[in-house]
Order: sequence, then C-alpha cells, then structure tokens
Amino acid sequence: LFIDSELGAGRTFAMEGNQANYLARVMRVQEGDAVILCDDITGEWLSRVTQAGKRRVDLAVEERLRPRDDVPDIWLCAALLKKDRFDLLLEKATELGAARIQPVIMRRCVADKLNPDRARAIVTEAAEQCARTALPELEAPQKLDALLREWPEDRLLFFADEDGGEPAADAFVFARQPQRAEGGQKAAILIGPEGGFDDAERAAIRAHPQARPVSLGPRILRAETAAIAALSLWMGVAGD
Ligand code: SAM
Repeated sequence: LFIDSELGAGRTFAMEGNQANYLARVMRVQEGDAVILCDDITGEWLSRVTQAGKRRVDLAVEERLRPRDDVPDIWLCAALLKKDRFDLLLEKATELGAARIQPVIMRRCVADKLNPDRARAIVTEAAEQCARTALPELEAPQKLDALLREWPEDRLLFFADEDGGEPAADAFVFARQPQRAEGGQKAAILIGPEGGFDDAERAAIRAHPQARPVSLGPRILRAETAAIAALSLWMGVAGD
C-alpha cells in the first residue's frame, strides 16, 4: 500500500477510509499480520498490524525491504482521451514503467479535463498491483503547443504517427545505443487523440528538432492501444 508520509523503522500509522476498508474487509488482516507499505520516497517497508478494526487498522513499521526503484527514463505524453480509455492508459502506462505521464490537449481531443485525484488513485493502485515502489510523475494536462515550446533539449520525442515513420522498435534501439548517452538517450513517446493529429499539429511536431516520427505497424490502433504497444516495445528494447 502506498501512503503519503515518509516511512521509517518504528513509525506507526493509523489507516482509515479506503485503505482500512481494503485491509479489514478485503484482506481480512488480523493483529500480527504483515502489510507491505511504500511511500514513493524511501521504498518498500514491512509493517505489522497492531490493531485491526473495521474502520481503522493500526500498523507498526519494522524494516525496509527494498529501496525506491530506479524507474526507466521514459515519459509518455498522451492526448487526453475519454474517461474509461484514459483510465486504462494510466493503469497500463504505470505497469509498463513510464516514469512520467503527461496528458496533452490537442485539437481533436474529445475530453479536455482530467480529475487529478481519480488519476492519482489509478496510478497508485496500478503501482501497488505491479509492485512498483516509485509512482509515475503525473502532470497536469498541457496544450500541445506549450509542450513543444517547453520541450527539454536533451530528450527525444518519439511521435507515434499512423501516417508513417521509422518502425518504433528500430528507432528505440538506436536511441538506446550507449554511445549516444550513458544508458542511452532520454526519450518520450507522444500519442495522438481518438481522431488523430490534425495537419497543423502534425506539421508542428514534425518540425520540432527533438521529434522523430515512428510507426507502430500497418494497422491503425486505438490511442490507448498505441500507448501500450509503444511502451511495450520500449520495455523490450530497454530491458527495464
Ligand atoms: N487518425 C486516425 C483516424 O481517425 O482514423 C486515428 C488516430 S489513432 C486512433 C490515435 C493515435 O494512435 C494516433 O494519433 C497515433 O499517435 C497512434 N497510432 C495509432 N496507430 C498507429 C500506428 N499504426 N503507428 C503509429 N501510431 C499509431
């Protein structure tokens, strides 16, 4: 379970609300049971239940099990999608190791808002499920032109384009060559909205010095599938 406070041996925590409900009613913990806690700062810790009520479960932290992960340095910049589809994208991007998720507002986006609490809850649950000890950084939605204007000079922007580009796996292998930078070059993947990029957006992205168009194959994938496919290819190439 992720908690908002920094963990440490000897610290005690009273879990309430959803987390108490999960521990008491779903996991049916009893006094003395082990519970794994994470804080997104120091890593993963072993704690024990010292009191198990239905509305409140008390935990005492014992020892650190693992430090916080070094997450792969890959960002996902994804057009904001309809709620269910963006929820899926958030969950899968977390499982696939994205270090940062940047929702992007584009002209053909159907959605223009993201509930930050809901998004945070989805990535936290996904991180718990896949035993990630570091949460992805979840940014507030940003317009495409601002994203391109503020883009860091040292990070490639792989732009998934169904109109064609280098096969994504080949482009990723090239970026990961150690001679390009220690541990490979920093990178991000940009995915368009349900209706695709419009012509002006595609031209602006293609003109950006850090952008590289990549193809995910001959079929047009749904945006969330494209994000999953691209991150899976990156994971396969980078090995983490
Ligand atoms: N423009 C398309 C249309 O309306 O027919 C669909 C866009 S597609 C559903 C959403 C996004 O997924 C695209 O903007 C692109 O980033 C990505 N995508 C889908 N299939 C792709 C492919 N085969 N290669 C590269 N990117 C792809």
